[in-house]
Amino acid sequence: MSIAETTPAVGTSGSAFHTADRPRWEDYSRCIHCGLCLEACPTFRLLGEEMDSPRGRIYQIAQADAGRLPLAGAFETHIGRCLDCRACQTACPSGVEYGKILERARAELAAQREVRGPRAWLANYVFRRLLPDPRAMARQARLLRWYQRGGPRAVARATGVLRLLGLAQAESLAPEVEGEFFRAEMGRTFPAVGPRRARVAFLAGCVQRVAFAGMNRATIRVLQAAGCEVVIPAAQTCCGALHVHAGRREEARELARTNIQAFAGFDAVVTNSAGCGSALKEYGDLLAGDAAAEEFAGRVRDATELLAALGLPAGMLRPLPWKVTYQDPCHLAHGQRIRSAPRQLMAAIPELELVEMERADSCCGSAGIYNVVQPEIAGRLLDEKMATVRATRAGTIVTANPGCMLQLRAGIRRSGAADRVMHVMELLDAALGSAEQ
Ligand code: SF4
Ligand code: SF4
Repeated sequence: MSIAETTPAVGTSGSAFHTADRPRWEDYSRCIHCGLCLEACPTFRLLGEEMDSPRGRIYQIAQADAGRLPLAGAFETHIGRCLDCRACQTACPSGVEYGKILERARAELAAQREVRGPRAWLANYVFRRLLPDPRAMARQARLLRWYQRGGPRAVARATGVLRLLGLAQAESLAPEVEGEFFRAEMGRTFPAVGPRRARVAFLAGCVQRVAFAGMNRATIRVLQAAGCEVVIPAAQTCCGALHVHAGRREEARELARTNIQAFAGFDAVVTNSAGCGSALKEYGDLLAGDAAAEEFAGRVRDATELLAALGLPAGMLRPLPWKVTYQDPCHLAHGQRIRSAPRQLMAAIPELELVEMERADSCCGSAGIYNVVQPEIAGRLLDEKMATVRATRAGTIVTANPGCMLQLRAGIRRSGAADRVMHVMELLDAALGSAEQ
């Protein structure tokens, strides 16, 4: 029996959902309870609980909408344990757009949950002040850089104080802050190499500006080599992906409106972050009924997607005799259905050997801030991932999302399963011979 047959439509009096962002009956009622998504779900595989499966979570959401389940206790636990990795969307024969349903359930939880004290203060600071403000991000990054490069980190790790404070996991996942932030590039235009084939705008990202500046520069060089004129609009802001994950949709809408204006008039809006790209492509859903948001979303391209379509000029790539394995970022493989583009680009590099790992499209446990808020499950997923990496005997893990890179680097530190993690753009940049020294 389907949810559509058992659950009254939206508007049922007594529904536990109260906001305009409530999960929609027309979305969740498409689930026919077939269970074909269960084996694809990392949390079901690990925990073996129906309520930690996609089908179980959709059932709980339907029950809450029917007023039969409160938005607390078990509901909050099982919705909180979901990675939002969307592997279930790929597996689902009924076309259930699970990500939309989950994110709306989280918006309801965020709207109804009373969080006070230091946790609420910290969350408000991160989402409202830090992520959208590059100056605040740079200030905090400089502080972190001092901690990482000076003596404090060595002392904190040696004395075990981080474990005592319960901060060891978060500290190990913090990005290594780079020497030179991605700041001088803001507002600049980088010309195409050879005839111009496209005029694109590049999303610099909020964390990427301080922790992946080199990767951003590599992406620009590769885009230029492919004939793109690359503009970095100075007025852009955070994409809002983490806000949507956390159910903070109103704040995400404000960011989306800023970006829609900042990126107007370009052939494409390009990102090297699968998580950001997925959020940008969903602006049409976030700002439902807004034609500019739909138009914007239609122009968003992952860097691998754009480059695979344009193609790199023949003979430009020098041989890289490396053995690599590729981790599909969930928000690229499942969120955007992009799997062949990165592989196609890697296949164009002479002498590069790509060895596929088992379950390359299964979540590594990064999932936004999941590895910080659900460290136990995230750690188990990372251990699984590192075992599959080790089996390939590849020295380099290649991926296409900064969050995955942080998680996989943490996995290498604790398992030694490979030597390094690179973004596809960094790999192409190295093959072009233009990588930063
Ligand atoms: S999004 Fe991922 S973790 Fe969540 S239900 Fe779907 S497959 Fe499972
Ligand atoms: S595969 Fe789709 S229809 Fe089947 S249980 Fe999972 S979400 Fe529901």
